[in-house]
Amino acid sequence: MIYKIFGITFYKKDLINENVLCPICNWSGNKFAMFGLIARDALCPKCGSLERHRLSYFYLLSKINLFASKSIKVLHFAPEKSITSIFKMFKNIEYISCDIEPEKAMCVQDITNITFDDNTFDIIFCSHVLEHIEDDSKAMTELFRVLHPQGIAILQVPFGKIHPFDKTELTTTFEDFTITAPEEREKAFGQEDHVRLYEKNDFVKRLKDSGFNVIEEKIMEAFKDEFQIKYGLSADDIIFAVTKQ
Ligand SMILES: [Zn+2]
Repeated sequence: MIYKIFGITFYKKDLINENVLCPICNWSGNKFAMFGLIARDALCPKCGSLERHRLSYFYLLSKINLFASKSIKVLHFAPEKSITSIFKMFKNIEYISCDIEPEKAMCVQDITNITFDDNTFDIIFCSHVLEHIEDDSKAMTELFRVLHPQGIAILQVPFGKIHPFDKTELTTTFEDFTITAPEEREKAFGQEDHVRLYEKNDFVKRLKDSGFNVIEEKIMEAFKDEFQIKYGLSADDIIFAVTKQ
């Protein structure tokens, strides 16, 4: 049996025996491994993918032109092993990973001061990075600069819904750069190395202020419940695809 997501054909034979399946590395089992501060079944024990990475897999497959003769230049910030393996599936991709820490990627880049030329990359993948960066406006401006005019940048950040201290609804991004101690940052922003708690509409505004056209990809709507469970996806995960036009 076959099914289609975003016009891509998948075979359904994987739905027969095992409860869950990682679409990236094909690991299957009864459930994903426990992960997170509030522990949940989320982690692929083989490739390390989480819900958001598996969602990105389906999204990237729908966006990368397998049959393009032209090579596609990809820049991957703070590379996750599972996402790297997706890009390596494609022969027509010129892949570069980068990180602020030299041992974590192919090259060192400060996202607020990228050394690549303007208009270089067809795809930029930057997931759960911007919440670590104090000057996120400069980072967004740099991503805009190095993106090809017809390119697409795929950005993900975690969102807050409740203000960490007064517990009211979060109406804009919460940031306070005087909070620097790891344990205080964890209380305020949810993780000891985060510098803010983004509110979704404000994140979109910041991207637009940096020049981007912002598309919120409602990719989860393409998945029936059985596939959300099978592939360990989360309705909370959102993919923002940003372009220069
Ligand atoms: Zn996996």
